[in-house]
Amino acid sequence: MTLSALIFDVDGTLAETEEAHRHAFLLAFGQSGLDWRWDPTVYRELLKVSGGRERILAYDPDAAPELVAGVHRRKTQIYTDMIASGRIAFRPGVEALINEAREAGVRLAIASTTSRANVEALLGRRRQWFEVIACGEDTVRKKPDPQVYQLVAFRMGLPVEQCIAIEDSTNGVKAAVGAGIPVVVTPSLYTTGDDFTGAAAIYPNLAEVKLNTLRALVP
Ligand SMILES: [Mg+2]
Repeated sequence: MTLSALIFDVDGTLAETEEAHRHAFLLAFGQSGLDWRWDPTVYRELLKVSGGRERILAYDPDAAPELVAGVHRRKTQIYTDMIASGRIAFRPGVEALINEAREAGVRLAIASTTSRANVEALLGRRRQWFEVIACGEDTVRKKPDPQVYQLVAFRMGLPVEQCIAIEDSTNGVKAAVGAGIPVVVTPSLYTTGDDFTGAAAIYPNLAEVKLNTLRALVP
């Protein structure tokens, strides 16, 4: 079968963004008078929950909805300013693989659970490389639910078997597998050692991964 599209997760996959997210949360907590200490150990645990608002609620299930919404809005503002002022580099091999795909006519898309503002801040002008960009606002259910992957395949008009997903997390793998899309994993800072059952392949990063490597994985 042909490989027609690559669908990328954003946080941890395109770039190591999780530390920027964590620092933005801490600044937003400080500005909101909260003394929540999300150190790397706590944050690693919280990353099992997709979505910023959901993550805050996982940490404090009793937090008032207005507080959660306010803190999250503030955090998004801080994060997007942070990202826009110092563009974060993509992980090794990402741009080379994207270039190879573009030259070969393999289509590109994004399936993320983060907000559109965050995704666009990270991509900047690189957003034009992606034909379809599905974000947190576009689905009712976030990863590990397969909805975002189903949506991307639908919008591209492609059978799921002709796509390959690239992910860095357990929830991402589950979402892609649930949609019937073969998935390769490049574990990130916060997901190294996690369970990637169902993945077609696992690589330290995309530096050694060529389009033909991925073509071989399409059933
Ligand atoms: Mg990710």
